[in-house]
Amino acid sequence: MNTSTYIDTHAHLFAEEFAADADQVISRACDCGVGKMIMPAISPQSYDAMEALAARYPGRLFAAMGLHPTEQGDLEEASKRLERHRDRYVAIGECGLDLYWHPETSEWQQELLNRHFELARRYDLPLIIHTREAMSLMRQMLSQNEGVRGVMHGFSGTADDYRAIRSMGDMLFGIGGVVTFKNSQLPEVVAAMSLDDMVLETDSPYLSPVPFRGRRNESCRIPLIASRIAEIKGCSAEEVARATTANALRMFRL
Ligand SMILES: [Zn+2]
Repeated sequence: MNTSTYIDTHAHLFAEEFAADADQVISRACDCGVGKMIMPAISPQSYDAMEALAARYPGRLFAAMGLHPTEQGDLEEASKRLERHRDRYVAIGECGLDLYWHPETSEWQQELLNRHFELARRYDLPLIIHTREAMSLMRQMLSQNEGVRGVMHGFSGTADDYRAIRSMGDMLFGIGGVVTFKNSQLPEVVAAMSLDDMVLETDSPYLSPVPFRGRRNESCRIPLIASRIAEIKGCSAEEVARATTANALRMFRL
């Protein structure tokens, strides 16, 4: 029996990739000790699917509301849903800056991120923040938002970024499959991080950990990520589970 209880803080289980077998994916996750999963929104086209899945698994699946920075559109629909059903959501997101895929929309992305900051304040919810090729701009924006709280999802910064962002508010750092990759700098950064600042995430269906790299990711792969973190930190996977689960429960008020 697996006694560890993990939380996958970032899984797009409503994505098309899971349309045929979401229930099996969720039951596999539970069998692997992943008892709760948080689904960050991507775009209005998938809000209904996300909410339907969350409603089917109360206490197990949770939803966040926002608009991914690589998408187009606005926050009108997201705002409407938050206004009507604030209690359906545990976070605002995913939101953020992605200057890798869309450097040309940087200004729009900054505006959109500021609106997410406003929503987080208005509804007293933590943020789930995506950052790609935009760490210095992100640090600048976070520092201008006092009392910011949430998760730096798929954290890819340096140890200096970690320390700086940590000091800006109640921030946690999402560690996923990248920590298992051979060419990754992340293990070095994780070595410098406290378990009290980490949460686990798969980013399913993306970023499968080794030895499943390149295949569809699932929440049941969380223990592989925890084992690698345990190896880096010189502790047990149970300790990683205990700390990261406590962090996620507190941040998202699950
Ligand atoms: Zn995501």
